Amino acid sequence: MVVEDSKVAIKAITDYLEDMDVLPLVAETGSAAIEMYRNERPDIILLDIILPDIDGFDVAKEIRRLQGKNDWTAIIFLSVMSKDEDLAQGIEVGGDDYLMKPVGRVVLQAKVNAMHRLVRMQRALVGLAERLNEANQELQRLSTTDGLTGIANRRLFDESLDREWRRCRRLKKPLSVILFDVDLFKKYNDKYGHQTGDECLRLVAKEVSRTASRPGDMAARYGGEEFVLILAETDQEGARWVADRIRQNLSALKIPHDGSDYKHVTISCGVVSVVPGEELSAEKLVKSADIALYIAKEHGRNRVECLGYGEGD
Ligand code: GH3
Ligand code: MG
Ligand code: MG
Ligand code: MG
Repeated sequence: MVVEDSKVAIKAITDYLEDMDVLPLVAETGSAAIEMYRNERPDIILLDIILPDIDGFDVAKEIRRLQGKNDWTAIIFLSVMSKDEDLAQGIEVGGDDYLMKPVGRVVLQAKVNAMHRLVRMQRALVGLAERLNEANQELQRLSTTDGLTGIANRRLFDESLDREWRRCRRLKKPLSVILFDVDLFKKYNDKYGHQTGDECLRLVAKEVSRTASRPGDMAARYGGEEFVLILAETDQEGARWVADRIRQNLSALKIPHDGSDYKHVTISCGVVSVVPGEELSAEKLVKSADIALYIAKEHGRNRVECLGYGEGD
């Protein structure tokens, strides 16, 4: 884009550019230049300083203000003003280069070529940065997701538990944890094979995460055939209800399991709730849930057992 109010200069500069197979836009005032920039986003702007309305420095400032962080335009000032301070001011307000008028063909074409190279490099960098950003997001997702079931993995569980623990402590609200373990799953694998076992774990994960759908709820694969659910701002009674819903919903799927007394896949659940406090820890909450789960197994599996925090140690 050529921003220039002298017809003679416009003619010369556009001739030089057309020689290079560049078809320039022309703006004869500062405000026309800003408008044209808004609509056309040119790669390079050759910007005269003395214009009939707004001066070129202000035009450059406005363009820098309008440009997004990813659409850089090169600005080359063109002026008869020849003091060093003018050049410095041009760079200061966002210009990239400064040419004295009248400018000859060779110099103008060389500068435009050089700037064009920079513009292309900048575009490529932006593209690269965008792809890097996407790759990082994907990496972040993968590092927190369990590959088999697609729900949160242990790592994300640990982070979330820590966060919810502190949040519920501030709010003085109860935090509940439910541990789930698939009953007699070794027998299931032995009878139906590991792949069918994997498929079964996907179904269990789906059931656990489907039922836990409130904003403070978070389902994760805890390891092997064990799953865990964080229920923020939920007391023991609420958590027991959720655990039993999941247990019943899973039973209702009637996934065949010959080795089980029920003849279908069941889960056992350990539930613990506490209002987090200074002397308490999230690790111990999970430990208590694990003990509750153990008791559920002892009592015949396919059931929910609740314990108080620290109980059963
Ligand atoms: P219990 O009712 O006492 O929990 O008995 P169990 O057989 O479920 O317990 P155990 O811990 O003996 O066995 C767990 C089994 O879960 C053994 C292991 O091979 C299986 N398992 C763990 N992770 C996976 C997995 O990713 N895929 C499959 N298919 N099986 C898994
Ligand atoms: Mg002028
Ligand atoms: Mg287990
Ligand atoms: Mg098991």
